[in-house]
Parts: sequence; C-alpha cells; structure tokens
Amino acid sequence: MNSIYNYTLNDLQAYFEEIGESKYRASQVFDWLYVKRVKSFDDMTNLKKPLIKYLKKNFSFDTLKLIKVQKDVDVKKYLFELYDGNKIEAVLMNHDYGNSLCVSSQVGCNMGCRFCESGRLKKVRNLFAFELVLQVLKVEEETNERISHIVLMGIGEPFDNYDNVMKFINIINDPKGINIGIRHITISTCGIVPKIKQFMEEKTGVNLAISLHAPNDIIRNEIMPINKAYNIENVISTVKEYIDKTNRRVTFEYILLDGVNDSEKCALELSRLLKGINCYVNLIPYNETSHIEYKSSKKVTINKFYDILKRNNINVTIRREFGSKVSAACGQLRSEQATESER
Ligand code: SAH
Repeated sequence: MNSIYNYTLNDLQAYFEEIGESKYRASQVFDWLYVKRVKSFDDMTNLKKPLIKYLKKNFSFDTLKLIKVQKDVDVKKYLFELYDGNKIEAVLMNHDYGNSLCVSSQVGCNMGCRFCESGRLKKVRNLFAFELVLQVLKVEEETNERISHIVLMGIGEPFDNYDNVMKFINIINDPKGINIGIRHITISTCGIVPKIKQFMEEKTGVNLAISLHAPNDIIRNEIMPINKAYNIENVISTVKEYIDKTNRRVTFEYILLDGVNDSEKCALELSRLLKGINCYVNLIPYNETSHIEYKSSKKVTINKFYDILKRNNINVTIRREFGSKVSAACGQLRSEQATESER
C-alpha cells in the first residue's frame, strides 16, 4: 500500500523530482492534504489532469474507517478499522490548555504488561506512519476542532515501531501541514533502552515519558516483563544520560495498583530512586478492566503516595481521570468490540 499520507514533505518532493515533476508541485499536494484537507486527488484543482491521473494510479488516499465514537465528559473515544480489517483506537481529551489526542502505534502489543488490556492481543503488526497521521486527521474532521497535543500512549509500544513513529512525527509537526508543535508531542515507552539511546541522539525536542510503575526490580519484573531485558538501573542510567544530552525533563508514569506498588515503602523507595533527576512523576489512577484482576488504589492511598513524593522534593502530579465510562484505558474499546463479535 503506497499511501499519500505516508510521505513527509521532503520525501514527497524527492519522489516528485524522480518522476520529473517539481518540488513545488509536491508542496501543493502537501498543502491540499494537510491544510485544505481534500478528500480525493480530483479535488486538487491546481494540478494538471495527467498528474492527477498518475497520482490516482500510484497512491492510495484515505484508508482509515471510523466505525465508532463514544463520548463522555471531556473525552471521546474513537474506534477505527484499518485497510486490512484490524481495529485500533484513539482517545481525545479536552484539557484547559487544548485538545490532546492519544494515538495507537501498533495493532496489539508484545510488551505483555500484566495490568494492560492492549497486551491481551499480541502484536499483529506495526502501524504505518499514514495510519497514525490519519487518526489525527479523522478526529479533527469529526470534531471540527484543532488537536494541539499528541501523546503516543494508545495501543502499542512506539519504540517497537520506531521508524514509522518518527516519520509520523515529522509529518504532523511540519509547519506547512498539520503543524503540531514538537514540544506538544509525547512518546511514552515501557523502557526499551537501545531505542531511548537512539532517540536521544536525534535531539528531536519530542517529550519522553517512561512507564516505570515500580520502584524496584522485584515488583517491576512481576508486572512488566520488559524489565527482564532492561531493568530499572539500566533504564534510570539511560534516562540520566538522556537528560544530560538533551537538557529535557523526563516524565515517569506510575500506575497505582492496589496492594502491588502503592505502599509507603514504595513511595519512599521511588523518591530515593528519582532523587536529583530532572523529572516529574505522573501518578495514574488505574483504570480497572473486567479481564484483569488488578484493582485501582484507594483515594487515600493515592494521596498518601503523592504526599510522600512531594515531601521528598519530587515533582509529582496525579493524573486526572478520564473516561472510565467510555473504557478509555488502552485497548479496552477494541477489546470490547472483539468480545462482541466473538459472541
Ligand atoms: N507502550 C507504551 C505506550 C502505551 S501505554 C508504554 O508502555 O508507555 C500508555 C500508558 O498507559 C502506559 O504508562 C501504560 O502503562 C498505561 N496503562 C495501561 N493500562 C492502563 C490502565 N488500565 N489504566 C491506567 N493506565 C494504563
């Protein structure tokens, strides 16, 4: 599948030059796609007929089908069907600072985090850059509102699909296109160390979030199998290197799971682990799912955990809860859909 949405402006210009067209024509096409948002090559009215014919023959256009939208206060969840029938989802959150879209990067996920719904379906395939781009375009079209922030926190491990994710970022960040600011884009990873290293060398300006979820290897091994490949010490020393190289602050995500990682001892251990690191911790109330036995920590426990970090001078926030009514935890909507059709 050669989707027209799979090309950065640079790639499109190079392609056009190869077929004997000008760079300028490529810029016009990019503008039709991302500024004017046309729905077909025929609508690109400043292109000559033979070029339109060529493009129609050689490229696919929109291949992402929106099949379901679920709404709740300040959150909307989108279920999409890909060209091969696989399903993915994206979640839109309205914040006071703008609209943030959480996009999926893979069909399924191989990381196997025990608490996560997405991992119940093993990775089927990576998403192409165009399938990430189209999630953004489709949601903007449905809401008629601009998306200001992108988080790669939907289904999948973005660093297990590195090249396509970076291409996606290049496309949506282009000031001549969708123009989402680089500092408004966040990649969340479970901690694939070699990819964090590659990412730091590229100095993109994209924000990095690490799903830590435990203060020591014993707990982390139990809930995140990736820790057996890249343990906490390895992840933390890589993050320190990342901060030195990029001068950027890193976010650690920490889901609070009742009786698993939410004790006062854990909070103290986490404070010691992160002491002196330019980071902040995002405490995430666990979104319970019917297939997984983990429970969310109680409000008082969450608050106590928060206080301990604060007292130890760790920058910390508790993530606002979005969309428990719309099954907004990763993979839940797709998973429900699968159950419906299995019936
Ligand atoms: N694979 C990447 C990105 C996708 S998951 C990563 O691991 O970071 C995005 C975030 O949502 C991760 O921090 C993940 O641990 C968290 N998450 C998964 N299931 C959740 C649930 N049921 N409730 C709350 N957060 C969840």
